[in-house]
Amino acid sequence: MDHFDVVIVGGGTAGILLARELGKQKRTVLLLDRKKDLVNFTFNTLGSFMNLDDFGLTANVVAQNIDTISFHSKNVQRKLKSNLYILDKKKVHEEIIAKIDTNYVTIKTGVAISSINKGQDGQFISVSDKNKNDYFGKIFIDASGTNGILSKKVQLQSDKTALATGVEYNVKYLGNSSEMHLLIGKIYQGGYGWIFPLKNKRAIIGFGSFDDKATKELKIRLNKILEFPKIKKLVLKDNEKVEGGSIPITPVLEKFVLNNLICVGDSVSQVNPIVGEGYKFIFEAALIASKAIDKALEKDNISYLAEYESDWKARFLLNYQRSKRAQNKFFKYSQNDFLMDFIFSISKFFSTERAIKSLSGEYGLEKKH
Ligand SMILES: Cc1cc2nc3c(=O)[nH]c(=O)nc-3n(C[C@H](O)[C@H](O)[C@H](O)COP(=O)(O)OP(=O)(O)OC[C@H]3O[C@@H](n4cnc5c(N)ncnc54)[C@H](O)[C@@H]3O)c2cc1C
Repeated sequence: MDHFDVVIVGGGTAGILLARELGKQKRTVLLLDRKKDLVNFTFNTLGSFMNLDDFGLTANVVAQNIDTISFHSKNVQRKLKSNLYILDKKKVHEEIIAKIDTNYVTIKTGVAISSINKGQDGQFISVSDKNKNDYFGKIFIDASGTNGILSKKVQLQSDKTALATGVEYNVKYLGNSSEMHLLIGKIYQGGYGWIFPLKNKRAIIGFGSFDDKATKELKIRLNKILEFPKIKKLVLKDNEKVEGGSIPITPVLEKFVLNNLICVGDSVSQVNPIVGEGYKFIFEAALIASKAIDKALEKDNISYLAEYESDWKARFLLNYQRSKRAQNKFFKYSQNDFLMDFIFSISKFFSTERAIKSLSGEYGLEKKH
């Protein structure tokens, strides 16, 4: 019977970064994912303010460099100068997986975990898959994304996670290749739209909402946005392939650790509320988690896992609470085109630096490296 230092459930964003870091620390790791292929996704493009170096990534993962963000309400367009990336999700994952040390990390795909089991001392001893195979370890990680298979079982995350859902098309792009667009207001179907330029005059156009009515008709609404004259000048739909998925928008959580189980990523809603950027924040959470895990294994004492929770709170909690309030206001205002036009008209008087910091989810965050 194999017994690992760490068993990670989920080989997405959080799981692979943790596996890479724990492998570097020479910890034995079993990474399990229900998918057969870890680099096959329901959507393929990411907008991100992350610093690639911070997470050991190279420029090879960049699909496009952006220097301008254009906000569109019904009648107003406001441009902000800011550097960020459109990333190729497949390349990001491939680069991380290529650096996982397979001397220490075993990856098993096609394994869908369904439960977590306790020993007599109350600590978790194994996770089980649907075929009743058990996987044993000292520390368990839920990195299963919005599925939250373990975080929900042990009630760190509510069973009824609130989700926002988005759909995207890959389209022809007629605009400036270093300018991305954000579409906000009732005219854009009351949700939140985005255009991410790619190379070769292509772009991703997407639309997302957490309104129940809108999520049932996302594709219809995205098609209507594509008919809007301003958008027709920017993109041209030439295929019917829809991509997309869901992100959690639950209230900000503060508890990610229970005994020897810790949860990272969407399994405990670690997407930053302000723009729904998951990668940068989840990578950072995974790095914080890997340090606490290393210490707990080194000292043979799981109480050190709590340092992940306290360090995460010190870095992110106030910012996430503030971003959540901003998100609520944003969704309310976006139902009113007159108000959005007014906000964008007067926004030229606001500090650009502050706007960019808010947008990148960094406002009020002091990096401790
Ligand atoms: C449409 C859309 C657009 C987005 N755009 C951006 C963006 O532009 N920028 C950005 O930074 N973020 C974006 N995000 C958010 C970002 O993708 C997520 O926050 C991030 O991927 C979450 O990472 P994770 O590791 O927690 O979960 P995931 O990456 O979802 O990984 C979870 C993994 O767990 C596996 N799994 C699930 N259940 C089980 C089980 N029972 N047993 C075994 N394995 C299991 C899954 O197969 C999956 O591989 C977007 C999300 C969506 C849906």
